[in-house]
Order: sequence, then C-alpha cells, then structure tokens
Amino acid sequence: MPLTEFSLIDRFFAAQAARRGDVAVGIGDDAAVLDVPAGQQLVVAADTLVAGVHYPADAAAEDIGHKALAVNLSDLAAMGARPAWATLALTLPDADATWLEGFARGFFALAERSGVSLVGGDTTRGPHAVITVQILGFVPQGAALLRTGARPGERIYVSGNLGDAALALQLLAGAITAPADARMWIEARLHRPEPRLALGERLRGLASAAIDVSDGLLADLGHILDGSAVGATLWVDRLPRSAAFLSTVPDLQSPAWYELPLAGGDDYELCFTAAPAHAPALAALADELGIALTPIGEIEAEPGLRCRRDDGRGYQPARRGYEHFGG
Ligand code: ADP
Ligand code: MG
Repeated sequence: MPLTEFSLIDRFFAAQAARRGDVAVGIGDDAAVLDVPAGQQLVVAADTLVAGVHYPADAAAEDIGHKALAVNLSDLAAMGARPAWATLALTLPDADATWLEGFARGFFALAERSGVSLVGGDTTRGPHAVITVQILGFVPQGAALLRTGARPGERIYVSGNLGDAALALQLLAGAITAPADARMWIEARLHRPEPRLALGERLRGLASAAIDVSDGLLADLGHILDGSAVGATLWVDRLPRSAAFLSTVPDLQSPAWYELPLAGGDDYELCFTAAPAHAPALAALADELGIALTPIGEIEAEPGLRCRRDDGRGYQPARRGYEHFGG
C-alpha cells in the first residue's frame, strides 16, 4: 500500500505522540508551540543516525527507533537535564509500513518511559535512511553539568560498565562467539542503550563536570580535560566491565581486548568528576539507583592523560583516540 507523506505522519507519528500538558501546539501546524517553565533553562541537543554508518542497514527497525532517541536522551543526561520534547526528521528511501511500525514502536516505548512528547519533525524521501532527532529539556537556572568544571584533586567516576558495545561489534563481525544468552545481552547493550537520565539529574550539585561516553572513554574524558584545562591519572585496571564481557573476551590481557573499555564507543554511560567529599553521597546514590558508580582516576593540574595499571606501571594504549597523552 503506497503511503503519502501525510498519511505516514498521521499513522505512525501524530497518532501516537502522547501530549504533555506543556505542549500548546504539537504535530500538525507549521511549528510546535511549547510552554517553557519559569526558572528553568532550555537544554537542546540533536544527533543523526545514518543507515550503514551508525547502524547496519538491516538492523531491526524497533532497535533503530529506540537508539535514535536514546543517544539524544544520553546527551541530556550528561547535562543533568530532564527531557521534555523531541522532533524527528526522517529521510527514507521508501515508505515501508512494516519498518515504520517497528521504528515507531521502539521510539515511543522509550519516549513514554522518559516523559518525552514528540512535537514535530520532517519527512522526506532520499537515497538512504537518515534519522535526526532533536531533544529539548530543562535544568534549573545555572545547574547544568558542563565539561568545563573539573578541578585538580577531584575523582573521576564512570557509571555502569564499559566495553560491552564494542564487544558486540566483535560478535556481530564473527570475530568471536559467545553462548546465546551472553550474546543477546551484549548485543542489546549496543542496539538498545539505556540513557542514564535519573542518574544525570541526581548528579546536579554533586558532579563538577560530566559527559556521556559515546566515542570511547579516552576520547570523551579527553573532552572534559580539555574543557576544564586539567590533566588526569586513569587507573585502567579499574574500568568496570560486565560479567558477560569478562566471560566472553578470549584474552583479557591482550591490548585488542583489554582496550575495548578504554577506546570502544557507544556505551552511553556517564563519565563525571566530583570532589572527594561527595564520595559518601555518590555511594548512597549508586545504591539507591542500582547503578554502579566506579572511581577510575583523579584529576590533576598537570595537563595530559596518564594511564596506570594497578601495580603502578604506566600504560600506553595502542588505540589512542585521544591525542594529548602525558608520560
Ligand atoms: P511543512 O511543509 O510546513 O514543513 P510538514 O508537512 O513537513 O510541514 O509537516 C506537517 C506537520 O507534521 C508539522 O507539524 C511537522 O512538525 C509534523 N511532522 C512531519 N514529519 C514528522 C515526523 N517524522 N515526526 C513527527 N512530526 C512530523
Ligand atoms: Mg516539512
């Protein structure tokens, strides 16, 4: 059945877009009209997924719908912001109803769980799929978590586990194998990342700087160090890795596997810095949210990133991803 642009928007997006009370005008007019709460700052981000670049062209539509929103929500989590509204710009080679249905299912399931209303977008035909989500949310005036606030003497933390998404790419490429249950769990970490929204909001007032780990820890921590004009020591043996990761990698000590949590991207965990005085509050928060918050290093005045093993030896990653290494 051929779908026109308008019936497509109605059927898959407008009809399913739950309306928050602060959406004065949603999908259907030339633009959305939104009520911004007093005393809050608007926080805005956008991220694009290109078929064949950011996901395999044959990836499940539901996973793509989830991930297109999840990577945007992760950016708001890293700002300490609460998401409210999204727009969706879809370029598609054809209007495949089955694909659109799956995409919308993945997108709206996460949107509803996250309190987000879809308020507009654009739909065009193009040579391959390009999906851009824009996300809008709020933080109380002056409370956003920036990349520029890290200070010498603070600790570096990361949430959850690192390296699972990079390991999933190795599984998909057929480089390694794993039992079916471990494989499914690890691949879900790549296809259906869970944005750390509750954690991001609770880090307001505790974290001095934050970023989400999308390009790999070395690269993303590097942005905090650059933004804050500081350096750091990173304890590379202490990077948190999942049980599935540890039981699946064929050789934990060889750099190719050892460095997945350091250099692998797509984990969407939060990396943040906090003064040592906040350690008890962070431990209590980790317990309350059921999310591990692992101290992995210290911020120092000396520029550059120094990686160390637990025995004190320096470690030079083979895959840098971050060019400002110190000695
Ligand atoms: P215009 O020609 O003025 O850009 P459109 O026909 O593109 O209008 O869009 C009509 C309405 O549908 C607008 O409210 C727009 O925001 C919304 N819309 C279009 N595509 C999407 C989409 N993929 N998801 C959500 N809303 C959409
Ligand atoms: Mg348009």
